[in-house]
Amino acid sequence: MPGAGDLPERYARILEDAGLDPSKDAFHGATDGEAWFGSGEPLEVTTPIDGAPLATVHQASKEDYERVVKATQDAFRAWRDTPAPERGDAVRAFGEALRENKRALGRLITLEMGKIVEEGEGEVQEAIDIADFSVGLSRQLYGKTMQSERHHHRMYEQWKPLGPIGIITAFNLPCAVWAWNSCIAAVCGDTMVWKPSEATPLTSIAMSKLANDVLQDHGHHGVMTLAVGDERIGQTIANDSRLPLVSATGSTRMGYAVGEAVAQRMGRSILELGGNNGVIVTPSADLDLAERAITFGAVGTAGQRCTTIRRLFAHEDIADEITDRLIATYEQVPIGNPLEEDTLMGPLISQDAVDEMMDAKRHIEKQGGRILTGGERLPELGANYCQPTIAEVTHDVPIVQDETFAPLLYVIRYEDLDEAIKWHNDVPQGLSSAIFTQNVLEAERFLGPNGSDCGIANVNIGTSGAEIGGAFGGEKETGGGREAGSDSWKQYMRRQTVTINYSDKMPLAQGIDFSVD
Ligand code: NAD
Repeated sequence: MPGAGDLPERYARILEDAGLDPSKDAFHGATDGEAWFGSGEPLEVTTPIDGAPLATVHQASKEDYERVVKATQDAFRAWRDTPAPERGDAVRAFGEALRENKRALGRLITLEMGKIVEEGEGEVQEAIDIADFSVGLSRQLYGKTMQSERHHHRMYEQWKPLGPIGIITAFNLPCAVWAWNSCIAAVCGDTMVWKPSEATPLTSIAMSKLANDVLQDHGHHGVMTLAVGDERIGQTIANDSRLPLVSATGSTRMGYAVGEAVAQRMGRSILELGGNNGVIVTPSADLDLAERAITFGAVGTAGQRCTTIRRLFAHEDIADEITDRLIATYEQVPIGNPLEEDTLMGPLISQDAVDEMMDAKRHIEKQGGRILTGGERLPELGANYCQPTIAEVTHDVPIVQDETFAPLLYVIRYEDLDEAIKWHNDVPQGLSSAIFTQNVLEAERFLGPNGSDCGIANVNIGTSGAEIGGAFGGEKETGGGREAGSDSWKQYMRRQTVTINYSDKMPLAQGIDFSVD
């Protein structure tokens, strides 16, 4: 446990700026929206930048979890009865607080999970954007009216708050994923308990403090609560029938466990799981655009985005050129401390993650693939650093079926677009996809019914960096969930169909006659 004096000055300042007192020996990892507590096991938080210990967090015990869920239940009764635009006003104020603290929170994200500052701040911007979106949404929770088949009857549907919900998040988006869920859920009238990744509890504490200060100013507590813990708390949430919805983001392994547990109790889940995203580059593509997008998409966040580009399908005619360009660019990527302005790639989240990448490299070579650039650890920078890597493989090697959560890009050559699309779809995951082409016929084939089978399909844009306005999520083993924009909000509400009879008769639907006399 770092004592007050042990924390490097630079790191202490980042914690302080984000509202976390660095002189504290430990932080509480649970809140009911008002008080902070945590009597569970201590969690030592380190930075992936250099392994320095940052803080100790006391996780939520079983009793703490009960206290938190009870608070969400109590708060739900008042929150669901608060007019939605008033709920939106609290979310607006939260968005303002995020704006004021964007830089501080962005740097905390960098310190805790290792993405570069630009991307850390970008993640906070995403939270601000979804807050703005939610404010507008709070006046647009529209229901439809329908035409009744019965005389003097009126039918319509209305959307009601669902209840307290559970939100489980992954390490790689420690702020934005919770915001996608929490801001929308809040305007929909739900209260919530958040279980963040055990790798990023400090960001969740800082975010929860901000949110709850704002909510308390608006006269509410217990709307946004927190229970830091490991997967056991996640399992408790999945099995907790007081939470009618569980939104879970993370690996497919986690999704199978959570999805099954929630379904067993007839709950609803939003599953946002692993991706294995592909880009097709056709002979007509603007290779400058493709190269820039692929570099950002494959190397950004050190390859640790669910939407990271993992497979590049390059047409034979341009395969050498695009590969050579990428190799040249990869070899110039500034790798190092993500807090430094010039760095474009920081560390992976852990040494295990680097080990997994090295395992993947061995599999590639065993399966007949070839490393074109990278593939080495960078111990001089620290245990969690490695080179961004490009490997050439054929479409049918088993390793391309897996999501290796690291900056590892497979190049696969193709001759025929339909074949490339077929190979592209031939993996268990279905999150994001893209084509680079200047030929409208090729673009439309990729978007058409025989095209990409993913939740996201882009033309002349990479697979990552989605805007919040669209519904975000993927098919197949990516889980089928949709979050953020469009009409994703409907999942956070209960749809009620209402029929009102304002006649003095009792006609039955389908014309059924059930008269006793
Ligand atoms: P992870 O599955 O290890 O953990 C994610 C969260 O689930 C953590 O909070 C963890 O404690 C919890 N958890 C793990 N096992 C659980 C279980 N059995 N029951 C309940 N909770 C459990 O994932 P990670 O390493 O933190 O994140 C990386 C993964 O997340 C990648 O696969 C990535 O693609 C995916 N991801 C997907 C999206 C998306 O929107 N599709 C977004 C971000 C990350």
